[in-house]
Amino acid sequence: NRRIILAARPSGFPSLRDFRLVTEPVPAPADGEVLLQTVSLSLDPYMRNVMEEVGPGYAPRVELGAPMVGATVSRVVASRHRGMREGDLVLAAAGWQDYAVSDGTGLTVIDDMRQPSHALSGLGMPGFTAHVGLLDIGKPRQGETVVVAAATGAVGSIAGQLAKLAGARVVGVAGGPLKCAHAVQVLGFDACIDRHDPRFAVNLRDACPDGIDVYFENVGGAVLLAVLPLLSIGARVPLCGFVAHYNGAGTPGGEDHMPALLAALLQKRVHMQGFIILDHYGARFGAFQQHMRPLVDDGSIRIDEAVVAGLENAPSAFLDMLAGRHLGKVVVAVAD
Ligand code: NDP
Repeated sequence: NRRIILAARPSGFPSLRDFRLVTEPVPAPADGEVLLQTVSLSLDPYMRNVMEEVGPGYAPRVELGAPMVGATVSRVVASRHRGMREGDLVLAAAGWQDYAVSDGTGLTVIDDMRQPSHALSGLGMPGFTAHVGLLDIGKPRQGETVVVAAATGAVGSIAGQLAKLAGARVVGVAGGPLKCAHAVQVLGFDACIDRHDPRFAVNLRDACPDGIDVYFENVGGAVLLAVLPLLSIGARVPLCGFVAHYNGAGTPGGEDHMPALLAALLQKRVHMQGFIILDHYGARFGAFQQHMRPLVDDGSIRIDEAVVAGLENAPSAFLDMLAGRHLGKVVVAVAD
């Protein structure tokens, strides 16, 4: 059983040395348990936070020497559990390893998805996050301007497409001209601004002549600073994440931007609301699935996945994901 363990706690941007691949015997399921083989592993920004000694509080840290955690699509390869059959595909949290045993808690059988990896992307946690953040907090109305950060990422790509379907004008922010072209030409956004362009703030302003009514916040940093002066009165800001700061980087220039943030929130009467998607599964996940599945099936919503082959490549794929070198939801293909 190959497992990728946390070898060191990173300071700043993580490196390959923070991970180590170890090989151990495949565990045997006890009575009432199943043996799961990982088919696909999800890589997500929150995994950077669980590598810290003191995390943000909602996801427990990973101990040194323990396997990295993560959502998986796994196959039941041996079952001593009455409710699970060998061959079943399940949504699990088996982490960065080939095999795991489970007593069945938290496993969901995936039997009706065209592509099982969608359970980790657009029809799973990231898509659900976009749905709750955009529709419950952002509440876009016809003709409003919605700006989505990390616009071609797992969450942002779905948030932007949902905003288009709600009749909004959607402006993405993404890293590089290729991602921006994809957002406009393939995802159907009205515009997408390259955050690496030295004229980024001016270009964003030009793309939002009527201001910003909804800002779907995934990143913080320089993107948030450029958004602040453009917010309309009564703007809504679903605060989903702030990945620009997960590796300890401050805001650009090292200045104190707190007064600008507070002034914008106050003067524009902004409704900014943080949310943790784990809170919403009980009440909203069923409605999300009912809403999203037909849209994905009929092509109204496109799910992009960046598939990286091989468990051994999970650490480098994870670093690439944090650095914005992938387009779409990053998934590791571990086994067929
Ligand atoms: P993505 O697929 O969007 O990958 C992260 C993206 O962040 C990169 O592709 C890159 O896009 C962008 N990025 C990285 N560094 C910076 C930077 N310094 N400045 C601006 N952008 C940067 O990840 P997800 O869709 O999985 O997650 C998006 C956000 O949502 C994260 O902040 C994550 O923590 C959060 N999240 C929150 C949840 C919740 O419950 N609140 C649940 C799930 C996710 P690019 O280079 O194109 O700009």
